Amino acid sequence: MLRKAGLACTVCGSRNYTLNLSSVAKEKRVEVKKFCRTCGKHTLHKETR
Ligand SMILES: [Zn+2]
Repeated sequence: MLRKAGLACTVCGSRNYTLNLSSVAKEKRVEVKKFCRTCGKHTLHKETR
């Protein structure tokens, strides 16, 4: 089973990415370093709903 999750920039709050997470990770809040177009640099992105 997959669940859809959004990733939002922790700096500006923009939702830049979506992920399909496996059920294995369902209890975890994902944090990934990704490029944010709004900030113009790599920032930490956290899972949103
Ligand atoms: Zn940003």
